[in-house]
Amino acid sequence: MKDNNCIFCKIANGDIPSRTIYENEKFRVILDNGPATDGHALVLPKEHFANLFEIPQDWAAEAMETAKTVAEMLRDKLGADGLNVVQNNGEAAGQTVNHFHMHIIPRYKGDGQTILWKPGHPSDAELDEVCRRILD
Ligand code: AMP
Ligand code: ZN
Repeated sequence: MKDNNCIFCKIANGDIPSRTIYENEKFRVILDNGPATDGHALVLPKEHFANLFEIPQDWAAEAMETAKTVAEMLRDKLGADGLNVVQNNGEAAGQTVNHFHMHIIPRYKGDGQTILWKPGHPSDAELDEVCRRILD
C-alpha cells in the first residue's frame, strides 16, 4: 500500500523524480539530498511502512540484501574506505520522514563526519539489570 501524503512513497514509485542509483522490484535507492558524504544513499521500499516495527520480516530481509548490493556498488565506484548503515525509527531516534528507509553512507578517510555515539560507563550490576529486563 502507498500513502498519498508520503513523499518517499511518491519518490519510490517514480511519481517524483529522484537521483536513482539502483532499483529492483520492491526498492528504489536514491541519493540523499542532504548527504553526510558523497554517495550517501537511501534504500526506499515501494510500499509504505512507517518504520522497522511496521515493515514485514521478508521486506526487512530484502532491504538488507538491497543495502548490501548498493554498499558494494558505492565502495567500488566511489572508492569508499568504509561505510555506515544507519536506520532511524521514531522521533526519539532522529527519524524525520516516516517511511522506512536505510541510510547507506560511504566513508572516506578524513571525511570529518561523526556517525557515532557517546559511550556510557555502566557498572556490571547495571548491565546485568538491563539484560534481566530484556530477558524477563
Ligand atoms: P531520517 O532523519 O532518518 O528520517 O532521514 C531522512 C533523510 O531523508 C535525510 O537525510 C534527508 O536529507 C533525506 N531527504 C528528505 N527529503 C528528501 C528528498 N526529497 N530527496 C532525497 N533525500 C531526502
Ligand atoms: Zn510512504
